[in-house]
Amino acid sequence: MKTIIEPFKIKSVEPIRFTTKEERTEILKEAGYNPFLIHGDDVIIDLLTDSGTSAMSAKQWAGIMDGDESYAGSRSFYRFEKAVKEITGDKIIIPTHQGRAAEKILFTILGGKGKVIPNNTHFDTTRANVEFSGAEAVDLLCEVGKHPEQRADFKGNMDIEKLDKFIQETGVENIPVVMITITNNSGGGQPVSMQNIRDTKEICKKYGLPLFIDACRFSENAYFIKKREPGYENKTIKEICQEIFSYADGSTMSAKKDALVNIGGWLSVNDEELATQFRNLLIVTEGFPTYGGLAGRDLEAIAQGLEEIMEESYLQYRIRSTEYLGEKIVAAGVPIIEPPGGHAIYIDAKRFLPSVPPHQFPGQAIACELYIEGGVRGVEIGSVMFGKYDKAGKPVAPSMELVRLAIPRRVYTQSHIDYVAEVIIEVFKNREKLSGYEFTYAAPILRHFTARFKPVD
Ligand SMILES: *Cc1c(COP(=O)(O)O)cnc(C)c1O
Repeated sequence: MKTIIEPFKIKSVEPIRFTTKEERTEILKEAGYNPFLIHGDDVIIDLLTDSGTSAMSAKQWAGIMDGDESYAGSRSFYRFEKAVKEITGDKIIIPTHQGRAAEKILFTILGGKGKVIPNNTHFDTTRANVEFSGAEAVDLLCEVGKHPEQRADFKGNMDIEKLDKFIQETGVENIPVVMITITNNSGGGQPVSMQNIRDTKEICKKYGLPLFIDACRFSENAYFIKKREPGYENKTIKEICQEIFSYADGSTMSAKKDALVNIGGWLSVNDEELATQFRNLLIVTEGFPTYGGLAGRDLEAIAQGLEEIMEESYLQYRIRSTEYLGEKIVAAGVPIIEPPGGHAIYIDAKRFLPSVPPHQFPGQAIACELYIEGGVRGVEIGSVMFGKYDKAGKPVAPSMELVRLAIPRRVYTQSHIDYVAEVIIEVFKNREKLSGYEFTYAAPILRHFTARFKPVD
């Protein structure tokens, strides 16, 4: 088989500013050892997130020029609505400025004190919005998904038995909605099978509960279904996407992921009564229902991006480049969540740095060193992001300590990825020299964004 090449030519380039290791050591110290606080210009390869970092196509940029900025009834809204409806089949499509705005509306209406919301794994903003409403967020990930070293095709699956038991024990009246996140971002970008989505729907039906999909990476998930799930090999990506959404009563979406744009999102729903409540809140917090916190041009770019995201040559290149990075570092002995997910490689910090205990943030230590070694920016997903404290103030670690290296869509080429692999392998070789970190500042909610640290002596 020949090399899988990037399925695009480059028409516009953005220079990378190179820094020395000495400069980066100083920059990181100034940033309180938090990669989120480093200036973008000081980063060589930015794998902090795949969110809003996509390169848009020539056609999307043409759409930006062609966008209709009418306050009400914009042509671009109708193109956006048609594109989203075609995939989700939902009756009402509400544009939002990003995914969390859709979550805020959804949980303001459906959440609140005493309510509990199950998900395979809540993403951090989803969990934060559930909890901010006063409700409780519960993760019911399948067992294999909790073991980074075990390989399985669909490690993002919901634990169906647990979901059933959970609903019986919690009481249907306390559960306003069941969520399923595709692919499972916090759990390693792992896909959810069609069978699992169908089974989740069956449970929801049994108890009369609505199912909402956190759809951020729906197309990447569909590609995994096509490649791994029997019966889907001859279906188009669009057909698979349509089937996924056919089991849901609504969806939240960050268009900054699988719509190939830099800003945007939606909340879709079938129920007219719910839609009315969502829209009323939208008008207060986002804007009029035909723009919802976006410009007409943004809606135009999303509509175009939704067509491009389901192209198979794109998905093959996309999923393969992530897998390629994973294979290269695994061959050098670096422990990662296996198999590689769709949008990111997740380094297993517990096995990478067993000498640093969870309360000294092994993931943070690795993320810091990747920056110093090669100007590569990743993000800790472990005790910094999800750590809690018990009543005595003792830290309670989440089940996994990870470093996520998320790959922006259509931005980096194979040589960039080769460079990243070299940097990771170099840090791995010198891992015994790494020390842990402690907080010097931590905010009470979503603390990873603004926290400051110092190395532990
Ligand atoms: C990014 C993301 C969100 C939130 O979307 P934003 O556009 O960042 O607000 C929600 N869920 C998942 C799974 C995500 O990856």
